[in-house]
Amino acid sequence: MSVGLPCRECGGRCCKLVPFTIGEYKAVRKRIPSGSEIEDVEFLEGSLPGVPAGNPGKVILNPHGQHGSNTCAFITIDGCSIYADRPQVCRIYGEDTTNPCEYLHPGQSRPIWLLGPEKLLRRN
Ligand code: SF4
Ligand code: SF4
Repeated sequence: MSVGLPCRECGGRCCKLVPFTIGEYKAVRKRIPSGSEIEDVEFLEGSLPGVPAGNPGKVILNPHGQHGSNTCAFITIDGCSIYADRPQVCRIYGEDTTNPCEYLHPGQSRPIWLLGPEKLLRRN
């Protein structure tokens, strides 16, 4: 979800399999309600398309969300529940023509998990 895009209208189509860095993960992990069925999935080599080795991170999933088992744990009917602390990939997704928004440009966008690793590597 990015500033200036119609994310509320869209309802979070890109909010699936979103890669958090370890730091981003630690900042939001405590915001997950205890007792929920949220799942943490480590980035392991080959576990997600495009995730290179040596780039640790997490995806945090609600297995019963709008995108099935791939749903980001933080999407709600009111939008992103951790908006101020959302991962960097969510901030840049859809912001330029190389990363077109899935809602505005169906069929032209790349999944957000493919956007994440290269951006994460730049930050490390
Ligand atoms: S697909 Fe586009 S409009 Fe929908 S939530 Fe993602 S960035 Fe926002
Ligand atoms: S952290 Fe927020 S903006 Fe990012 S995928 Fe999850 S719900 Fe969407």
